[in-house]
Amino acid sequence: MSVARTPCYIGIGANLGDARDTVTQAIALIGKLPQTQLAATSSLFSTAPVDAGGDDYVNAVVKIDTRLQPIELLQALQALEQDFGRQRPYRNAPRTLDLDILLYGDKVITQDSLEIPHPRMTQRAFVLIPLLEIDPFITIPKQGPAHNFVPAVAGQAIRKI
Ligand code: AMP
Repeated sequence: MSVARTPCYIGIGANLGDARDTVTQAIALIGKLPQTQLAATSSLFSTAPVDAGGDDYVNAVVKIDTRLQPIELLQALQALEQDFGRQRPYRNAPRTLDLDILLYGDKVITQDSLEIPHPRMTQRAFVLIPLLEIDPFITIPKQGPAHNFVPAVAGQAIRKI
């Protein structure tokens, strides 16, 4: 019996080195994760750092269909981050590659190592705008339609590239 695939949304960000190239490569590598298919890719966006200094970020969101369990997916994404040489010298430091699980089907997970929906996704234009580009009617479990949160992030600069 084959386990059904779950639709998931992954937030991608980079602001060190050739960030645009990093995000493009990361999208391709996410599509090659085991038991996973790339279902949709947003445009790439340029955004100013939130709560941090450094260069502007390149951000995107991808939708995947995966049979990986949430923790397995987190571990696979963290391995990709490591492959891109990410270091964490301090909180919100500039980063080569940041990958966040935004949504995993309609699951709600509250563990120390994994919170889904991603706890800050509704506060960030660089998540909401690419997410809504892929799926304008996406609903966040227990929080409602994602588009309801857009007015609150309208002050955050974001530009399609
Ligand atoms: P960050 O520095 O923002 O990439 O945060 C990484 C940490 O967040 C890791 O220790 C993860 O275990 C934890 N984390 C909690 N929820 C999530 C999530 N939905 N996606 C990715 N990382 C998460």
